[in-house]
Amino acid sequence: MKNNILIFSGSAGSGKGTVLKRARELCPKLRLSISMTTRLPRPGEENGREYYFVTREEFLETLAQDGFLEHTEYCGNFYGTPKKQFFQMIEEGYVPVLEIETDGAEQVMRQLDRYLSVYLSPPSYTTLEARLRGRGTETEESIQNRLRTAKEEILRSELYENIILNFDGMAEEAALAIVELVEEGKTERSVLVRDRAAFLSDFQK
Ligand code: 5GP
Repeated sequence: MKNNILIFSGSAGSGKGTVLKRARELCPKLRLSISMTTRLPRPGEENGREYYFVTREEFLETLAQDGFLEHTEYCGNFYGTPKKQFFQMIEEGYVPVLEIETDGAEQVMRQLDRYLSVYLSPPSYTTLEARLRGRGTETEESIQNRLRTAKEEILRSELYENIILNFDGMAEEAALAIVELVEEGKTERSVLVRDRAAFLSDFQK
């Protein structure tokens, strides 16, 4: 095991839920760090499984007690990684996975000297747009907003040591690349971005 912490981010439309789930099945040492959030649970979400759902007061109390490794405000809600659980996982020999957005990822990168960072992205702007339109339930304004946010996040992917592309129908390949990065420190798979400038230029238009 080369890496003992995985910072994992991806925009809307990257398919990060599917890929991360598969990577965890393939590599049981990966253990999801459960964040605290003030956003309301979505249908099907359970307290303590996807998140610890808390009030603003509870969140701010944990913050005041220096209980977060990192925290941020995203779309009007607070999110934070509880410190205690994170260090406990490392102590028990697991590899904590921080599935967080780019602002929190940057905070963690500043604090720790050893970590593996992976940004998962849709392979192109066209695919991103197709995925965000896929559900067909949102207004054009809301789609344009989500596209803009996703584009901004993807342009911050330069912070990450590794950028992996999630092509349609190739989530398995992306998951395998992540597992190889965790276990061997490298991957030869073609889903790993080698030409970053070419990748980014597609989202800079
Ligand atoms: P959602 O509300 O859709 O579950 O998550 C919104 C965003 O917050 C996602 O990009 C997710 O990765 C990020 N996120 C979830 N938990 C945390 C956390 O503890 N810290 C930070 N910085 N971001 C988080």
